[in-house]
Amino acid sequence: MLVQATNRLRQTSARSRSKHLFNRAKAVFPDGTTRATVERNPFPIYVQRGEGAYLVDVDGNRLLDLNNNFTTLIHGHGFAPATEAVVDMLRSGTCFANPTEHEIALAELLTTRIPAMERVRFVNSGTEAVMFAIKAARAFTGRPAIARIEGAYHGAYDWAEAGQEVSPGKGGWAPMSVATPAYRGTPSSVVDGVHLLRFNDVEGLEARLSAASDRVACVLIDPMPSRAGLLHPEPAFFEALSETARKYGILIVADEVLNLRQGYAGASARYGLKPDLTTAGKIIGGGFPIGAIGGREEVMRVFGTENGKPLLPQGGTFSANPVSMAAGRAAMEAMTPDAFDHLEAMGERLRAGLRASIAKRDARFSVTGAASLFRIHPKRIAPLEYRDAYLSAEEASLMRRMSRYLLEAGILLPYGAAACLSTPMVDSDIDLILSAFDEFLQAEIQSEKECAQ
Ligand code: PMP
Repeated sequence: MLVQATNRLRQTSARSRSKHLFNRAKAVFPDGTTRATVERNPFPIYVQRGEGAYLVDVDGNRLLDLNNNFTTLIHGHGFAPATEAVVDMLRSGTCFANPTEHEIALAELLTTRIPAMERVRFVNSGTEAVMFAIKAARAFTGRPAIARIEGAYHGAYDWAEAGQEVSPGKGGWAPMSVATPAYRGTPSSVVDGVHLLRFNDVEGLEARLSAASDRVACVLIDPMPSRAGLLHPEPAFFEALSETARKYGILIVADEVLNLRQGYAGASARYGLKPDLTTAGKIIGGGFPIGAIGGREEVMRVFGTENGKPLLPQGGTFSANPVSMAAGRAAMEAMTPDAFDHLEAMGERLRAGLRASIAKRDARFSVTGAASLFRIHPKRIAPLEYRDAYLSAEEASLMRRMSRYLLEAGILLPYGAAACLSTPMVDSDIDLILSAFDEFLQAEIQSEKECAQ
């Protein structure tokens, strides 16, 4: 207890400027922030600038950034090739109603690398990409509903977000959850149109999908759902998913907004999933707003016209703006197979080191993740589905203590989300994370001993 209190005090006193800004922000933003996802521990840390793998806050603290704007900045902050591409663009105009060559170049890069993306459309965010992928699946199949994984995050489109907040009832978990709305006032037709599946649950798939097969347009699935626990897919689950979807004429939409960073060809290719549609975002914009929907040519045809009329209208004032296109291309061109290998090797070393610490201290923690992504769980066994990763109040407070402890050690670790590495990180950054985590475990064990005395 003493350790926790001291940490909290140190943090608060060393961040007076952040605290001051938060007080100012409270007068203009509901809850003091413009994004519900901004962490307050107890108040947000305001950033002054980014420098490669690090950021500097407004109080002058330098922090190793494991958030990277929710996994967007695969090259960290201020990546020179993206900055230069953007500066060039700024001089010649930032957005036009007409198309530019920049959008073709980024689309060519994606379709060349990602086998499931035969054709592409650009939008401005991951939310929009998921929304249009769902609409495309509906337009192609003529069916209204979707199936999605309980607890997974897919952005803020009503149908995509219903079911992200499920929790055990008084009697524990129901064998199958029912989609709950993400906010009060959601039309009941939204939740009626969302069927929940459990990740890695082979048996449940057939039962769930067969019961609604004539209404379900697509299964929306993140190959490694991050918010649900950064869960590793079982090969049998993806095989069963492909088979069942094919049997009922249901499309598979792989949401790779976050997990595209798992490899040169993305995450579906890595785990043997063959989607009809794929969404992307985050890393493909080089630090600028972006989203993309890609897929089989036959399915993507719904974005085209028939008798001069679009089958599925899709526009967007800033869609395919040349700034995001140019920055994205520069960032993605630098993500060569060697760059992916480098991130993979650092990620492997980090996950192995964290697991070694846990084993050495016999701590009740586990680690999930792949490539440049990782997540630490206050659970002895690594979760296979959302229910396994679900935190009790006590576990949630343990995780908050961990984030705070690491913050004191100069590391920004996201709470309740995937953490990620970036290409400018070096071995000493990995060592810093490993030693801070090991010290945290040691401090927790010590404080447990003191409490028990
Ligand atoms: N899908 C997934 C899998 C995501 O992780 C996110 C963002 N974290 C989104 C969709 C939404 O993307 P955006 O925040 O760009 O709207």
